[in-house]
Amino acid sequence: MSSADTFLARWADITAIGSAAAVLSWDQETKMPAGGQAGRGQTLSVLAGLQHDHLTDPALAEAIDRASDAAGDDPVLDAQVRMARRDVVRASAVPGDLARRMAEVRSRALGVWQQARADADFSSFAPVLTDVVEMSKEQADALVAAGIAEHRYDALLDEYEPGATEAQLVTLLGDLRDQLSPLVKAVTDSGVVIDESPATGSFAEAAQLELGTVVAGALGYDFESGRLDLSAHPFTTGFDPGDVRITWRPEPDDFRPGLFGIMHEAGHAMYEQGLPTELARTPLGAAVSLGIHESQSRLWENQVGRSRAFWEWALPRFQQAFPGTDSVTVEALFPALHTVTPSLIRVEADEATYNLHIVARFEIERQLIAGSVEVADLPDLWNDTYDELLGVRPTSVTDGVLQDIHWAMGAIGYFPTYAIGNLVAAQLFDAATGAIDDLPGRIASGDFAPLLEWLRDNVHRHGRALSADELVERATGVPLSSAPFLDYLRTTTADVYGIRL
Ligand code: ZN
Repeated sequence: MSSADTFLARWADITAIGSAAAVLSWDQETKMPAGGQAGRGQTLSVLAGLQHDHLTDPALAEAIDRASDAAGDDPVLDAQVRMARRDVVRASAVPGDLARRMAEVRSRALGVWQQARADADFSSFAPVLTDVVEMSKEQADALVAAGIAEHRYDALLDEYEPGATEAQLVTLLGDLRDQLSPLVKAVTDSGVVIDESPATGSFAEAAQLELGTVVAGALGYDFESGRLDLSAHPFTTGFDPGDVRITWRPEPDDFRPGLFGIMHEAGHAMYEQGLPTELARTPLGAAVSLGIHESQSRLWENQVGRSRAFWEWALPRFQQAFPGTDSVTVEALFPALHTVTPSLIRVEADEATYNLHIVARFEIERQLIAGSVEVADLPDLWNDTYDELLGVRPTSVTDGVLQDIHWAMGAIGYFPTYAIGNLVAAQLFDAATGAIDDLPGRIASGDFAPLLEWLRDNVHRHGRALSADELVERATGVPLSSAPFLDYLRTTTADVYGIRL
């Protein structure tokens, strides 16, 4: 075996353990009986430990070194080595003792958070959240010491969005906040009420599933390499480019969460189905970042799914699926796909206000990590921030600071990836529109292949060979910016609400 083969064979083993865990997690969310919870948790924690052991095995580090010596002028092997080293440094940076304490505190925090949320009682969650924050700081310091990033928050962010920095986000999300907040306020002040009746009524689950399946298949989601199941929270999970699964959850009286949820997850899944098979099970054969992942879901859900062009194709199929909708027109439906309503709950937010929910979390969590805010101050800080950004104020911590699972899971630095995804989606779609001859016309006739091919070529085929920043700049000709997203929102808001800002 050549030194490169030895290195890649070890890497394939690590990937296989991850895939096995992912299958078990998929089963846990879709099929497993409630009684399986404890046993499944134990199995998953053994697999996570096993994967960590393989990743930090000195024999792997040696194999990487030997492959590096042999790489010569092979740029792909060179990139494999660089990416593998980074993953190994990251996994080895956190001492075993801290890793064990983190796992213990996180699992305790999840249980306490669930109860505190049900009781609307922040004070019972505060002590364990303090532990999570303190351990996240320790973890970040260990990562900084290992050279993963320069600053604490950057080190945490790096796990989800490699290479991104707090400084970069302060500019990007600050811009978003400064321009989005007045836009949302102008919509609220306008008093315009959108007629949402074309999107509401009675939508049988079987008909929603059939329409969602037709749409996902037409976009390019490959059902031969995937499947669609029900789950409490929709998600995508891939075990290999040949098996990438999605889930959904319908609402009986509103077709939007079901259909747009399927388009969203299909977008995530087409990215993973499009990862290069020759890089499968290697350090380069995965998605580059959560922000880029989210850009793929948002692009199909929003830029495509909420466009007039898409509905010219989709409306007859919609009307066929749901009897009694014959009088619905694209013009009547369009405003109901672009409502702007400030609300308290992130996961129910529309495409405009969603990013302000993210800005709020980013501003709060970076102060937590910097130590300029105490856990005890969070409920008031949360409510004040919502008041300022969205003009709404929670009356209960259940709809406020306790609504998300992320901090209880120790996932600090995760939220910004959602906003990055929205910005990248708009920027990529603009570039694709410029590159593809009559893209709206293609979409209106149900020909989604040119767009998918453009994404395959500019995003999917790279795996992790380019950084997220490089990928965006190469695909669009300019660095990531909030301008295309803000233009997109201004256009739809002018169209639907008659407001120009
Ligand atoms: Zn997503």
